[in-house]
Amino acid sequence: MGSESNPVASSPLAHGPPKGPIDLHIHTTASDGTLSPADVLREAAEQGLAAIAITDHDTTAGVRAALEAGVPPSMGFLPGVEISAAPPSSCPMKGSFHLLGYGVRLDHEPLNRCLEALQDSRRNRNPRILARLRELGIDLELDEAAMEDDRGQVGRPHIAGLLKEQGHVKSIEEAFDRYIGNHGPAYVDKYRVPVAEAIGLIRAAGGVAAAAHPGVLPLEPGPAFETMMAELREMGLRGVEVFHPEHSPERTEYFRGVARRFGLLMTGGTDFHGDVKPGVAMGRGRGDFRVPPAAFEDLLREVAGP
Ligand code: AMP
Ligand code: FE
Ligand code: FE
Ligand code: ZN
Repeated sequence: MGSESNPVASSPLAHGPPKGPIDLHIHTTASDGTLSPADVLREAAEQGLAAIAITDHDTTAGVRAALEAGVPPSMGFLPGVEISAAPPSSCPMKGSFHLLGYGVRLDHEPLNRCLEALQDSRRNRNPRILARLRELGIDLELDEAAMEDDRGQVGRPHIAGLLKEQGHVKSIEEAFDRYIGNHGPAYVDKYRVPVAEAIGLIRAAGGVAAAAHPGVLPLEPGPAFETMMAELREMGLRGVEVFHPEHSPERTEYFRGVARRFGLLMTGGTDFHGDVKPGVAMGRGRGDFRVPPAAFEDLLREVAGP
């Protein structure tokens, strides 16, 4: 590893934690967020954020675009990704296990090949979801070119947006609940990379792997959850997203304890998606949500290695 191998991770804050809120979980239009990478940087600056990480689903295109647009020198920045993995055997669930990767090299070919396979699987699934919806009597009008756009990661949130715009549902949430959620009648499964492989690729690319929003997993706090964390740590997991707007204060405390006991870094972010998640503000989530600023420096140190 070594810091030279991750030239894009940057921190103006050599001494002590950053001043101002931080957000280590942000989506852009490169996946299912509604702000472009350049607009994410603008918003982060306007909100006075001291450090951010862009973590799009299965792509680092948003990180590249942000770096090209120019990260303000006063803002800490970590390249990130949120990989759609198949869950570990200790966590039986439908759908994806989200794995965050921080500080990955953007030119790591095995990682990039994996991300491309995941992008293809999402893209190839869209027409099948639309066909299911047609069987249910919903004929969505869409811009074929936009649906096949290989720059962005068009996925279920975009389809949810169309269902809402075209009057079939009143909210994104209702689109998932009634139609395209993991238990909905128009749900179609897709390829996912085994989580052990995803952790291995993140590490090979010089990054740190962290379990995203554990509070949304179907495991209650207790032995089953901890068995899963042990399995993941064995695979090379080094962090857990303790701080996330979906976590109650009690859960946050529990995850904090788990991180300590398992020797894992505590990460956190708002999972900002822009307008598709109304009410979740960059760096601030909802209410008095905040990510402890030390999380950024801890992660940066871990990425840089000893
Ligand atoms: P996809 O990767 O195309 O399967 O879409 C998954 C994404 O849809 C997730 O990462 C979330 O951003 C979003 N999503 C999943 N379930 C819901 C839900 N119930 N309400 C709103 N957004 C959701
Ligand atoms: Fe998302
Ligand atoms: Fe996620
Ligand atoms: Zn996310």
